[in-house]
Amino acid sequence: MLSLSSKIEDISKVGPAYLKKLHKLNIKSVRDLFFHFPHRYEDFSQTVPISQLKEGQKATVQGEIVDIKNIRIPYQRIKRKLILTEALIKDDTGSIKVVWYNQPYLTQSLKKGRVISLSGKLTFSKKTLCLSNPAYELAKLDTVHTGRLVPVYHETEGLSSRYIRYIIKPITYLTDHFTDFLPDGIKKKFELLNLSEAIKQIHFPENLSFAQKARQRLSFDELFLIQLTTLLQKRRYNKEKSISVEFNQKLIKSFVKSLPFKLTNDQRLAAWEIFQDMSKNQPMNRLMNGDVGSGKTIVALMAALETAKAGYQVALMAPTEILARQHYESFVNFLKKQKLTVGLLTGTDKDISSKEKITKPQLKKEILNGNVDIIIGTHALIQENMSFKNLALAIIDEQHRFGVAQRAALQKKIYNMEDGLPTIPHLLSMTATPIPRTLALTIYGDLDISLIKELPKGRQKIITELVTPDKRQEAYDFITKQIKKKRQVFVICPLIDESEKLDVKSVSQEHEMLSKEIFPHFQTDMLHGKLKPKEKEKIMKDFKDGKTDILVSTSVIEVGVDIPNATVMIIEGADRFGLSQLHQFRGRIGRGKHQSYCFLFTDSETQKTDERLKAIIKAKDGFELAEKDLKLRGPGNFIGTRQWGLPDLAMASLDDLELIKKSRQAANLVIENEMINPDMEKRIENFHQDIHLE
Ligand code: ADP
Ligand code: MG
Repeated sequence: MLSLSSKIEDISKVGPAYLKKLHKLNIKSVRDLFFHFPHRYEDFSQTVPISQLKEGQKATVQGEIVDIKNIRIPYQRIKRKLILTEALIKDDTGSIKVVWYNQPYLTQSLKKGRVISLSGKLTFSKKTLCLSNPAYELAKLDTVHTGRLVPVYHETEGLSSRYIRYIIKPITYLTDHFTDFLPDGIKKKFELLNLSEAIKQIHFPENLSFAQKARQRLSFDELFLIQLTTLLQKRRYNKEKSISVEFNQKLIKSFVKSLPFKLTNDQRLAAWEIFQDMSKNQPMNRLMNGDVGSGKTIVALMAALETAKAGYQVALMAPTEILARQHYESFVNFLKKQKLTVGLLTGTDKDISSKEKITKPQLKKEILNGNVDIIIGTHALIQENMSFKNLALAIIDEQHRFGVAQRAALQKKIYNMEDGLPTIPHLLSMTATPIPRTLALTIYGDLDISLIKELPKGRQKIITELVTPDKRQEAYDFITKQIKKKRQVFVICPLIDESEKLDVKSVSQEHEMLSKEIFPHFQTDMLHGKLKPKEKEKIMKDFKDGKTDILVSTSVIEVGVDIPNATVMIIEGADRFGLSQLHQFRGRIGRGKHQSYCFLFTDSETQKTDERLKAIIKAKDGFELAEKDLKLRGPGNFIGTRQWGLPDLAMASLDDLELIKKSRQAANLVIENEMINPDMEKRIENFHQDIHLE
């Protein structure tokens, strides 16, 4: 007796060869098989009398086989014989020719005199209308491959849609055994099908409207589980205690006054939200999402200042050494008058603002003893042997560059004791990747978000231009003039693939070409992931100090680095990057007082490339680009879902705002009314296993 938990090989039609292929798709049980959803349907639901068939039509025909035979025809070009199966089918209204290619075995099951059902497209061949390569089966009441909406599955090698239909159809009765984890009230409120019905209909829908409803229900489930998970996480998190850092108006006011610039409204609002959060004894969990150059650092610095002045420690973690050092330098600079000690701790580097020389173990000891107020570093901050005295605020810059576990580690590991009560630090994350609202609701369902959309006043607009091969020289000439004016240039090499080796090669070649042929009179240097941290640091420093004119770099190397004198950027193979990514690169220039230029080099001249790249020229901010990117490339490409701690979604679309909102509302209802059942718990658990693979 088959059940949902039966092994897939218990289905008699699954032999060893197919078993292997199914396992490859992670289909191990009958239940898994039902969760292998079709991605579209072929509409063969109309059975048409033969006399009414028209060219180009997709239709189903039912009739008797009058004649069927295999014909071998020599096929010159591939020096192989082509086997054609030709049949004549007739119904009450007429007859039609049918051909299949290279399936000689068909004549064994499709014999003269049998009544069959055929679905396919009508084409003209040698002036006669015929059905070419149709799906076929013996005619019966409940057809599988023809005469209905026929499910089409993603086909992997050797696993055809026909085969999947063939094994699923006879056992669809088992869908009745699915227990529904959604309470009836929720289903009613959000007009959702039963789970059993949805799974039955997703595979073999009665009509398109049912297919649509089934998809709706199954997408809802995925989003609902994400929302439920994040909302539960949020609840759990809210039960933790943190040190309440009271808003110090006097301190902040005088600090803001002392700044060489005026804060933007968005910066003020973000800071205010952060101060509010931190004054509670519940942990803050806030994401500051602002375009490159929008000035997130200073806001984070204000939070750090307040915390440190209240007598607690602050940790700031950045994804790269260069960035950590840059933050260290600007913190030391902005906090000069504050009598605070700032420390820098990275894999290779260590520093402390108030002391001349210090070793790494000494620095760690000082941190543990509470003699360092603000500790800035890389992953080194979450190493096993790192402890703090009284960490009250953890800040993560470019948080998407860290894995889920790493982000959690900064907060969890540094568990401290205040008045004998365990607390966890407030968490402030930052990202310069603008995230569209729909996506944020899902990815960051458990976070509060501060948006910084507005750029500081007087920030110049970067002139961005598309450069096709014929205009390359012109661009190089222009750049030569800029360098003669003492400006500096970034060159970003195209993304080759995941392999770092190839990236290095591409950077080396580009560097060689530029330094020998195009710009022989200027100082060039190159930067890539295979260099030692010390070497990278030196290269960046030379560039920052103006010793290098042109820096050739891989696309993956550094984010957020501030070099005001770099005013020109060349992006090679620009069409291979996403809009958000291009925008991110571009953010490295235009940080000083001189007009900046970004040249998008492309060899691709397709309309689509053109349209995409023009969007970046026109867009008013990163958020607008992100929305566009999401539309053009879909969420999977926009971001790695894994990176954001999401499982792969089979059904749901992350830009369906309506459904996302509904699923969130439903998850809230379920939590509030304590309607979480063991089935839901099980699905959440699977979901956790799914996302903790990274
Ligand atoms: P990001 O948000 O990309 O991290 P940064 O914090 O590095 O941006 O800020 C970019 C530059 O803008 C820094 O040099 C910073 O000092 C400066 N800046 C920040 N806020 C303002 C402001 N309100 N007006 C002018 N310049 C500002
Ligand atoms: Mg930054």
